[in-house]
Amino acid sequence: MKLKYKGQHLYKERGVIHENGKYTCLRCSNTSVSMFYSYKDLRGACTYCLKCIALGRSDSLTPLFYEDTKRYKDNIEFKLNFELNKEQQHASDMIVSAIQNNHDLLLYAVTGAGKTEITFQGIEYARNNGLNVAFVSPRVDVVREIYLRLIDAFVTARIDLLYADEKIETDYVFTVCTVHQLYNFIEHFDVIIVDEVDAFPLARDKILENQIRRALTKTGSCILLTATPNRALLRGFKNTETVTIKRRYHGQKLTMPEVIFRDIEKTFKKKKLDKTLKDYIDKSIEENRKVLIFVPEIRMLEPFMEVLKVNYSKIDSVYSGDPLRKQKVEQMRNDTLDILVTTTILERGVTFKYLDVYVVHAEYFDSASLMQIAGRAGRKIVDPVGNVYLFAKHNTLSLLKTKQTVRMFNKGEV
Ligand SMILES: [Zn+2]
Repeated sequence: MKLKYKGQHLYKERGVIHENGKYTCLRCSNTSVSMFYSYKDLRGACTYCLKCIALGRSDSLTPLFYEDTKRYKDNIEFKLNFELNKEQQHASDMIVSAIQNNHDLLLYAVTGAGKTEITFQGIEYARNNGLNVAFVSPRVDVVREIYLRLIDAFVTARIDLLYADEKIETDYVFTVCTVHQLYNFIEHFDVIIVDEVDAFPLARDKILENQIRRALTKTGSCILLTATPNRALLRGFKNTETVTIKRRYHGQKLTMPEVIFRDIEKTFKKKKLDKTLKDYIDKSIEENRKVLIFVPEIRMLEPFMEVLKVNYSKIDSVYSGDPLRKQKVEQMRNDTLDILVTTTILERGVTFKYLDVYVVHAEYFDSASLMQIAGRAGRKIVDPVGNVYLFAKHNTLSLLKTKQTVRMFNKGEV
């Protein structure tokens, strides 16, 4: 079923109930006392849930309705502009088999291994057999990127998109959404593919994990995709079958990051651009490459941009709350921009051709984050290599671990 404010059937008299001295939200199962807000209006006392407020209010005065789950067979086919290699084909077969045999699967694939494409066969199988599919991610910008890739591959399919800014809704038989949107679904999906399963907040949030289970039918399959599994995550999915892909889809190895020791912030505080950094950027631009520069903190964006703008004109910056984020990413793609300076918001899910990736103050980043960032380079078949430059004030364990992980992946030891 799918919960709605207005619908065919009454699900609960009220969204939030008060029992045995505690509140429970019947939409998202929240029981944490700090996640409810109470006030009085003309109708009397009202308490609403803060946890799922992004989906509209679930409160103690308003009923929740639902509509029945629709199920029907599609007749869809996906197209891919490259052929899966042996390793990818094996993973793809494992996903189909997990769906057929009603079990979960953890796909552990190096960034750029074509994780999304590997799920296409499974999605096609599910839809053509009348199984409802959701492709979810904890991150809004990843959701949009995935949606674009799916409509591109499944030309004849009707795909729903649910996330904060945008909604394209039909029957919810094939839905791309944020994990939060699953609060509205109960035993509705037969297959839920969770991308970036290691990303905030899924890895730490048991409630969200339960929410995925609640949205899934009792016999449904959960397909978990990750590029950077941590130990806690792997422990949590002990009984799940695992498949690993070590190579990127074009068969090229991961780029080994080059670490350069410089204190970039010190120079831009003096309103100067570090000479070494400038030489590297100049070289990238001379070679007609795009430059994506990561900074660890939003406060660094402005002073850093100030000195960069003295030297470069086709440049802009982007951060998580930036309303022009999508346009700026587009401007990088259509050559209006050469350089985009960003916080970690573009760490996942965004791809550019001919890209060199820079990190300044890489000493602030953890290894999982550096692996994701490094994985932005060399993601396109036309340009499978790409450079990764990590500018750091000093060496860190994370920097060492990042290089070690790349080495292990490239040797096939992971
Ligand atoms: Zn709630």
